[in-house]
Amino acid sequence: MSVESLFPRLEALLPKVSKPIQYVGGELNSTVKDWDEATVRWALMYPDAYEVGLPNQGVQILYEILNELPETLAERTYAVWPDLEALMRAEGVPQFTVDAHRPVRAFDVLGLSFSTELGYTNMLTALDLAGIPLLSADRGDDDPIVLAGGHAAFNPEPIADFLDAAVLGDGEQIAIAITEVVREWKAEGSPGGRDELLMRLAESGGVYVPRFYDVDYHADGRIQRVAPNRSGVPWRVHKHTVMDLDEWPYPKKPLVPLAETVHERFSVEIFRGCTRGCRFCQAGMITRPVRERSITTIGDMVEAGVKASGFNEVGLLSLSSADHSEIGEVAKGLADRYEGTNTSLSLPSTRVDAFNIDLANEFSRNGRRSGLTFAPEGGSERMRKVINKMVTEEDLIRTVTTAYTQGWRQVKLYFMCGLPTEEDADVLGIADLARKVIQAGREATGSRDVRCTVSIGGFVPKPHTPFQWAAQADHETVDRRLKALKDALRGDKEYGRAIGMRYHDGKPSIVEGLLSRGDRRVGAVIRAVWEDGGRFDGWSEHFSYQRWMDAADKAGVDVGWYTTREREENEVLPWDHLDAGLDREWLWQDWQDAVNDVEVEDCRWTPCYDCGVCPTMGTEIQIGPTGKKLLPLTVV
Ligand code: SF4
Repeated sequence: MSVESLFPRLEALLPKVSKPIQYVGGELNSTVKDWDEATVRWALMYPDAYEVGLPNQGVQILYEILNELPETLAERTYAVWPDLEALMRAEGVPQFTVDAHRPVRAFDVLGLSFSTELGYTNMLTALDLAGIPLLSADRGDDDPIVLAGGHAAFNPEPIADFLDAAVLGDGEQIAIAITEVVREWKAEGSPGGRDELLMRLAESGGVYVPRFYDVDYHADGRIQRVAPNRSGVPWRVHKHTVMDLDEWPYPKKPLVPLAETVHERFSVEIFRGCTRGCRFCQAGMITRPVRERSITTIGDMVEAGVKASGFNEVGLLSLSSADHSEIGEVAKGLADRYEGTNTSLSLPSTRVDAFNIDLANEFSRNGRRSGLTFAPEGGSERMRKVINKMVTEEDLIRTVTTAYTQGWRQVKLYFMCGLPTEEDADVLGIADLARKVIQAGREATGSRDVRCTVSIGGFVPKPHTPFQWAAQADHETVDRRLKALKDALRGDKEYGRAIGMRYHDGKPSIVEGLLSRGDRRVGAVIRAVWEDGGRFDGWSEHFSYQRWMDAADKAGVDVGWYTTREREENEVLPWDHLDAGLDREWLWQDWQDAVNDVEVEDCRWTPCYDCGVCPTMGTEIQIGPTGKKLLPLTVV
């Protein structure tokens, strides 16, 4: 059955809303396929505004891979701003895709990519606007399968009642596998309706279907067990790992945004995974092991993507880009290739000890000498041992001094506040470190024209990390420590004016903590917040801590129990039936090591220390060097 474009109805609303361009679609490299020729149709959503959602790599990769499949189409949808939401409700215009402005409810699958839990209320808005029942249990055969992916999907329990399914890990192969399951089921005449389709997905072992699992609780509120309620459903659902990134060189044709977005560059992922072992870092833990993309594939992807998009900045993306075994060759090869053109390079995430200034010089050869950002994360040596961020003060000062002497004038240092075992002195250590950075910079350059900004985020313990058992610091403690740090910097007559400080208060971290380590009972809080008008919780101007606390009261949920409570070793955690490959005993030991300031090396360069991922997932570390060079292709 054909589906009509909603654009004529939407167009009438656009003159009345802010930034209407974000809703019109038609970006360079976007795709519109014939509806009737497709047998499986995906709507892909990044549940935030277009300006944040469009650059998302995960969505762009899946959009391209799915659209390359025969008889399959994929379109994108983003969260609409409250002004358009109000008009859509008034005029009865449902949630639409930006590609062909088709109603989201007409698709077979609505795939949502969650990098953060703060997008949950936006999911509810989209479902409601689409006319899809909020609860999975209320959906019928005509509703899409609502499927979550992304890092937050490693504990989807707080949104379990709203989801039909979730997938863990890399999406490339599993998205194709799901497409084939849906196609086959539809070709057979959709036997058994929605329930059978979900059962087929669950039986495949690669898709988590929350409704097929029951959760029992102890009288004190802890989980007693999570168990399948049907035969054929696996006890544990495993994550997916793409082992050869060279086989998946996406995006090949990056989307070029029509409206302003948070990143306007072509990003090429140079490797996936990280085994540095920073204990706070969920991304590092759940994406193990390290798999590098080869220098030749990186070179080819950059060339093809720049040609296809016209972007004049290329970002080399990963969790710690300077750790690529051939980053020097990659940087030099690309800088040579684009010398004299207006194409510049950037390295979005770097580690202090892996960074060297030759590399920084390559990156700035063709572009601006913008600020350098380093992330020591902890303000004292002791704190950095607890979090296993093996950066010494010496490393930091040496690197930053070299940067200042090579002409950089501004460095940014990123830290966290509220880390396990943290004391006031650890946070005040940030001020000492910043002072030493400025002092060393002034001595090395003979100039007072050096600056440093310390940027501080609140720490949130995350599932599948050694800190999953830790007590989160309450927001009063975080705010008190941040204030003391601010006072220390302000009161410093010699260095204070050269040091800037950026931070958020501790309240949003508590809500993020509730959503990160929550269980199914937290779903009622999310729904109550949404019903009370909660939207765009990742945006400070929209976020309301009070609204979350009121909703928790209403739902009878004790926020402190989920956030500031330390868990015992044997407590069943809401995500224990979801397998990121990490051995639970290893994680617990690493948590004990953290408390005792014991550091763990990176298994890329030392023997395997049995975190469990490789044997469980049938994977292995894949790093170079390949010894290959990038050809300095002629740029036309
Ligand atoms: S199993 Fe061993 S080699 Fe693989 S990621 Fe874990 S520690 Fe590293």
